[in-house]
Amino acid sequence: MNRTRVLNTFLDLVTIDSPSQRESSVAHYCAQQLKRIGFTVDFDESQHETESDTPQIIAHLTGTAPGHIAFSAHMDCVSPCIGVHPIIENGVIHSDGSTVLGGDDKSGIAEILEGVESVKESGRAYPDITVLFSVCEELSVAGAPHYPDDLFTEETPCFVFDSDGSAGTICIAAPYHYVYTATFHGQAAHAGVEPEKGRNAIVMAAHAIERMPNGRQGETTTCNVGIIDGGSATNVVPEDATVRGECRSVDADEAICLKDQISAALTTGAQTFGGTVDIKWTLSYPGFLYAEDDPTIDMVKRAARAIGLKPVCKATAGGSDANVLGTKGAKPILMGSGMTHFHSLDESLNVSDLEGCARLIEEIAATVGN
Ligand SMILES: [Zn+2]
Repeated sequence: MNRTRVLNTFLDLVTIDSPSQRESSVAHYCAQQLKRIGFTVDFDESQHETESDTPQIIAHLTGTAPGHIAFSAHMDCVSPCIGVHPIIENGVIHSDGSTVLGGDDKSGIAEILEGVESVKESGRAYPDITVLFSVCEELSVAGAPHYPDDLFTEETPCFVFDSDGSAGTICIAAPYHYVYTATFHGQAAHAGVEPEKGRNAIVMAAHAIERMPNGRQGETTTCNVGIIDGGSATNVVPEDATVRGECRSVDADEAICLKDQISAALTTGAQTFGGTVDIKWTLSYPGFLYAEDDPTIDMVKRAARAIGLKPVCKATAGGSDANVLGTKGAKPILMGSGMTHFHSLDESLNVSDLEGCARLIEEIAATVGN
C-alpha cells in the first residue's frame, strides 16, 4: 500500500466536481486509473434510466489465482459539493467548511483503487477482481439497480466501501425498505351547505395514521408517515387525500408484518368513513443479514486482524448500493470507509482510515487468492 499515492488519489477525486447525475469527470478519472492498473473497463447502459452524464463503470482484472471478488463504491456526492477545497490537519482531511468533503464516497473509490493496485504490485496471488463505480447513489440508490441483471453469474462477494466506521468496520445487516403511497377517495360536498353529503378523505387519513404503528418498533425495525397531502379549500369536504410513508427492517418477515399492519390501518381508516383507499407498496431495496461466523465475514475479520485492524461488526439502518447488488448475483458486504459526519459540512476522514481500508482491500484480495 502506497500511502502517498492513496492520499493523492483521494485529493484528486474530491477536487473533481461530481454531484448526482454529473459524475462524468470523476468517471473519466476512475476509468483512466483502472486502465493504468491493468483493468478492462466497460460502461453499462444505465444512462437512459439514470439521466446521468455518464454510464456506470464495470471493470475487470483477471486474477492470478482461482476465485472472484468485487469491490464497489459510488461516484456521486451530496450537495453542496462543487469546488471542494480539502484541508489536511493533524492527520484528518476536511473541507474548508463551505462544502461537504465528498469522502462519501470518494474515500471508497480511492481505497479500492489503491487496494487493487497494491495487491497486483505485491506479487501475492489474487482472484479475478471486478470493480463497480456507480452513479446517483445519493438519489435513493438510483444507479445500481440499472447494472445488468447478470452482473455476476455465480454468487460473488462484493465489498461495498460506503459506510461510516473506521477501517475494519463490517456491516453485517442492512434493512429491507418498503415505501407506500395511499390515496383515500371520499366524496366532495359544500362544507357549509350540505356537509352530510360529503365523505372526508382527510379524516379517513387521520383515522388511519392514528391507528398505524409509527417510529421505532424494534432494534432494527422502524416505520414513518412522511408526507400528507389533500383537500382544495376550507369550504369543501375533501374528496381525496394522499399519505406517503415507509417501513424498514433487517428482518424480512418483520418488514412484511409492519407492511400488513400499515395496510390494515389504511383500509380501516377509509372504511370507517365510507370511503376507499388505493395502496401502492414498493420495495425500494432488499436487505441482508449475515451471521458473524458467515464464511465471508469470517474471512474479512481474519484479513483485518492480519494487518493489525480490529474488526467491528455492526448493522446499518440505511440503504446503499450493497442492498441492490444482492439482486444482481452478488453477496454484498457493506464496509466502513472511514467517512465521518457524512452529508454535512463537518464531514472528515482520518488519513489512517484511508490507508487502513486500502490495506484491508489488498489483504482481502490476497487472502481470497491464497
Ligand atoms: Zn455513500
